[in-house]
Amino acid sequence: MSPELLEVRGVTVSFGGFKALQDLSLSVQPGSLRVLIGPNGAGKSTLLDTIIGKVRPAAGEVYFRGEKISGLPEHLIARRGICRKFQAPGVLDGLSVRDNLRLAVRADKGVLASFSPRRRQEEEARTDELLALTGLGERQDVMASELAHGEKQWLEIGMVVAGRPALLLLDEPTAGMTAQETAQTAELIRSLAGKHAVLVIDHDMQFVELLAAPVTVLHQGQVFREGDLDHLRNDPDVMEIYLGR
Ligand code: ADP
Ligand code: MG
Repeated sequence: MSPELLEVRGVTVSFGGFKALQDLSLSVQPGSLRVLIGPNGAGKSTLLDTIIGKVRPAAGEVYFRGEKISGLPEHLIARRGICRKFQAPGVLDGLSVRDNLRLAVRADKGVLASFSPRRRQEEEARTDELLALTGLGERQDVMASELAHGEKQWLEIGMVVAGRPALLLLDEPTAGMTAQETAQTAELIRSLAGKHAVLVIDHDMQFVELLAAPVTVLHQGQVFREGDLDHLRNDPDVMEIYLGR
């Protein structure tokens, strides 16, 4: 058995004749944080699509907890504990932050659970936990429609985490955020590690620096480099793929 949570083994993805991923291998350990960077069109989003089963590889396999998941339908892959943020039960604008989170907790536990008073208490306790995690405690009674852009992203992350995914996939979570919101998002994501493995794509280098996690550089559908950000920043080949040849 493999100690890896996720193993992408030699995956190739073709769109028509174009190979968006070419013989790509990558692994993620339980509870770890990994960052994926690379120029536009490198194949980052396609890799996430392949992991969640939205895109099927032409060659290679994806394993999760040692079992092959590539080829399974999306909902079965999700049920095993892999979640991409946009699959979150959508935030309901007309509900408060707390009600949104409670709904996500209930969706995880099953609706019948809420009929038992003890389960109701557990539900509230778990909702409190998620409020603390997302830093939205003081905003719990605010309507989701009133939230700032960053706060709404944190609420979405909280709602995904309610389902306790073993692996959380985030594609550019800081897009459109202020520097302050970006820093808070890095803190939130770091606090998820340990309990959840997180694979995060972003191109904001300040954010990537704050995550302080191993970085994989994708280029033309392949792993170009792996290492820590400081190392990669000083790599002339990495600079070159960003600047274009
Ligand atoms: P990134 O997220 O790294 O910017 P993508 O994974 O979105 O890159 O895309 C990788 C390459 O695959 C790009 O050249 C893109 O145009 C192409 N591509 C992505 N999705 C499709 C698709 N559904 N059909 C055809 N080409 C696609
Ligand atoms: Mg992308």
